[in-house]
Amino acid sequence: MKIINPATEEVITTIPDDTKESIRQKFKLLTEGQRVWASVSLPERIAAIEKFWSLLDTEKDVLAETLTKEMGKPLQQSYNELNGARNRIRYFIDHSEKHLAEEWITEEGGTKEKIVFDPLGVIANISAWNYPYLVGVNVFIPALIGGNAVFYKPSEYTSLTGTHILELLHKAGIPSDCFQLAIGKKEVGELLLDLPLDGYFFTGSYKTGKYIAEKVASKLVPCQLELGGKDPMYVMEDVEVAKAAADALEGVVYNNGQSCCAVERIYVHQKIYDAFVQSYVEQCSKLTLGDPLTKGTDIGPLARPEQREFLLSQISDAIFKGAAVLHGGNLPEKKGYFLEPTVLVNVDHTMDVMMEESFGPVVGIQKVASDKEAIELMKDTKYGLTAAVYSKDFDRAEKVMKAMNTGSVYWNCCDRVSASLPWSGRKASGLGSTLSYQGIRAFVQPKAYHLRG
Ligand code: NAD
Repeated sequence: MKIINPATEEVITTIPDDTKESIRQKFKLLTEGQRVWASVSLPERIAAIEKFWSLLDTEKDVLAETLTKEMGKPLQQSYNELNGARNRIRYFIDHSEKHLAEEWITEEGGTKEKIVFDPLGVIANISAWNYPYLVGVNVFIPALIGGNAVFYKPSEYTSLTGTHILELLHKAGIPSDCFQLAIGKKEVGELLLDLPLDGYFFTGSYKTGKYIAEKVASKLVPCQLELGGKDPMYVMEDVEVAKAAADALEGVVYNNGQSCCAVERIYVHQKIYDAFVQSYVEQCSKLTLGDPLTKGTDIGPLARPEQREFLLSQISDAIFKGAAVLHGGNLPEKKGYFLEPTVLVNVDHTMDVMMEESFGPVVGIQKVASDKEAIELMKDTKYGLTAAVYSKDFDRAEKVMKAMNTGSVYWNCCDRVSASLPWSGRKASGLGSTLSYQGIRAFVQPKAYHLRG
C-alpha cells in the first residue's frame, strides 16, 4: 500500500497490507493473549496505559510530523491532537478503577448480590483518519484497561500513525498479543467482519457504519458506531458578532474542515445577518492555506483527492440552485489536494451543502427570522451528532438545545469533545457512547452474582 503525502502528492513510503492468513494468525494470537491479559490486575493494566501516556509526550515530535505528512493537518494541530489524546487517556487512568470495581448491591440478608464487570474479549477497533489519536484512544484505551485484546484497524490514510501507536503501546508494556494491527484498505476491514470477534467499535462514515452494523448483526455482539454529522450552529441577534463569527470559522475550518463535529451549516438571525457574514468572510480571507508543516499555516490539504471532487460538486450544486460564493470555491494552482475555504450564502435546504456532510472547509450561511425557524431548520437533518447555539440569553438558548435530537449540544461554544461527557451520535450519526463513565463501561459486560451461604 502506497502512503501518499496529500500536500505534495508524493509517495512517502510503501507498506505491506495484511492478508487473510496474517489476519487469521493475529486473531489466534489475540485470543490467547486476551485470556492472560484479563487476569492481570486492573492497577497493572492501568500502569501500562500510564506509560503509553508518557511516551506520547516523549515521542511527540516524530508522531506529530508523521501525522501531518500522511493526512495533511497543520503541524500545530497534530500537536494539539496528541495533547488532547493524552487528556482523554488521563481521564481513563483516573476514573477506570472506580467504574470497573465490583459493585455490591445487597450485602445483607439471605442472598447477597453484586455486579462484576467482565471484559468483552477480543474486539475490533475500525478507525478513521481525521483524528487517529483522538478517535483511537476513545476505544482502545478503555478496551485495554477493561481487559480486552484489540484488533486495531487504522484508516489506510493514517497507517504510519497506526504503526507508531502499536510500537508505543508495546513499549509501554501492553503485551504484543493484546494489541495488533490490521493494515490495509476496506478489504482488510472486511476480513475483521468475517472473524468471530466479541465486539465491533467503528468510527467512520455513515455508509460504512451502516454496512458494518448490518454485516455483524447476526453475531449478537456489541456494535458501536461513531459516524458523521451535519452539525448546525444558530447565532442569535444579541451576540458579539466578531467573536461568534470567529468561533464559527474555527468550527468550520479546523483540521481542514474534516472533523465529525465541525460546524457544517450556520443559521443567523436576520437582525445581524449582514454583519455576521461580513465578519466571517473578512476573517476567512486572512487564513493562510499552504504547506501544513510550515508554521503559520491555518489550512492544509484535504486528506483524500476524492473529497475535493465531492466538495466541488456540492459547491456547484448550490450555485446551480441559486447560492452565491462570497469566498473561495477554487482549487489553488499548486500540487496537493488543496481547496480554498469556501463561504456560500443564499443557501437553502434543497442544496446538498446544507443536507449532506461536507467534511471540508466549506459552509453555507442562511438567514432566519426567528428562533422557531432556526429550530426547524436545525432539526431538518438525518444526522444527530451536535448542535450549537450562540446567545447571551441562556433561557432562549436552552429552548433550542432542548429541541435538538443530538448527542451533544453547545451554548456559546462548538466543535468540542470532553473526556468526562459521553460522546454519542443519534440517528445517522451513530449508536452507543464512548468517553465518560459510559465509555469505560462500553467495553465490559456485567455479570450478576446471586450469593447464598
Ligand atoms: P470510512 O467509513 O471511509 O472508513 C472508516 C474505516 O472503515 C477505515 O479504516 C476503512 O478502511 C474501514 N472500512 C471501509 N469500508 C469497510 C468495509 N466494507 N468493511 C470494514 N471496514 C471498512 O470513513 P473515513 O473516511 O475514514 O472517516 C470519515 C468519516 O468518519 C466522516 O463521516 C466523519 O464524520 C466520521 N467520523 C466520526 C467521528 C465521531 O466521533 N462521530 C469521529 C471521526 C470521524
